[in-house]
Amino acid sequence: METILTLNNLTKKYGPLTAVKNLSFTIHKGNVYGILGPNGSGKSTTLGMVLNVVNKTSGEYHWFDGKDSTHEALKQVGAIIEHPNFYPYMTARQNLALVCKIKGINSHKIEEKLEIVGLLDRKDSKFRTFSLGMKQRLAIASALLNDPEILILDEPTNGLDPQGIHQIREIIRRIASEGTTILLASHLLDEVEKVCTHVVIIRKGEKLYSGRVDEMNASHGFFELRASNLQKLESILVSHPSIGKVTNSEGLVTAILEEPMDAETMNSFLFENGIVLSYLNKRKESLEEQFLQLTNQTSH
Ligand code: ADP
Ligand code: MG
Repeated sequence: METILTLNNLTKKYGPLTAVKNLSFTIHKGNVYGILGPNGSGKSTTLGMVLNVVNKTSGEYHWFDGKDSTHEALKQVGAIIEHPNFYPYMTARQNLALVCKIKGINSHKIEEKLEIVGLLDRKDSKFRTFSLGMKQRLAIASALLNDPEILILDEPTNGLDPQGIHQIREIIRRIASEGTTILLASHLLDEVEKVCTHVVIIRKGEKLYSGRVDEMNASHGFFELRASNLQKLESILVSHPSIGKVTNSEGLVTAILEEPMDAETMNSFLFENGIVLSYLNKRKESLEEQFLQLTNQTSH
């Protein structure tokens, strides 16, 4: 499997605040990755670091096989991380022609890219006449002009109406189906579910889960547990290889399973380790519940 991007313990501190903490994951060619997390969880900071517009504090990342400099590698990366910046009195086509000139790339693909984002019939309309969704689509066309290996999008549907959101998601799917790797940041679970094959869930800069979106859906469920010695309960749970994240919310301990485990096995494992449970409940939840669980949000 060809590697596009590797992060290894990447960390960003802003003074006392750790915006991204020891983040590691790998992006392979041909997949659609979502970095999912609530606002302020470090998604944009992560994208900024790998795009070399935010200085990392520690850790590493490298593009492709790591042989080229970041500067050289980024020529094969298309990214939209800020609001699209085009000239209002120039047409869509003129704006893209200018981008080609500035970046020193051939302008023969302008119409092809306008077609992909559904703006070919508006190529001679001035940018200022465009809706927010059209502006975003033009930005995508612009990022595709040099046929990048990977397209990076930060909250691609923010601020758009439902139709605009739908159009952008369709375009992302189409670009992915043609073989371009995609990395997008989103705080929207359903967006990630709808367009991504893989997800990295972060909260407060830390990775909580990474893996295939469909495997996350088919999770092995989790246990809700209570016992008088919570500290001991938690430390024993984290030592078990089948158990992933363990959280404690007002005395109710949640242990997410990474492998199948039945209630009897859990109960006897804990008993053998000196824990007598006062409560045990095995649950399996929807992806939405899992996400809320993982990111500690409430659905109400
Ligand atoms: P997200 O994109 O997931 O919403 P960000 O990466 O923008 O999150 O921000 C992560 C954290 O870092 C937030 O707490 C944010 O306030 C903080 N942060 C981001 N940029 C700066 C900056 N330039 N200076 C100080 N703090 C920042
Ligand atoms: Mg952001």
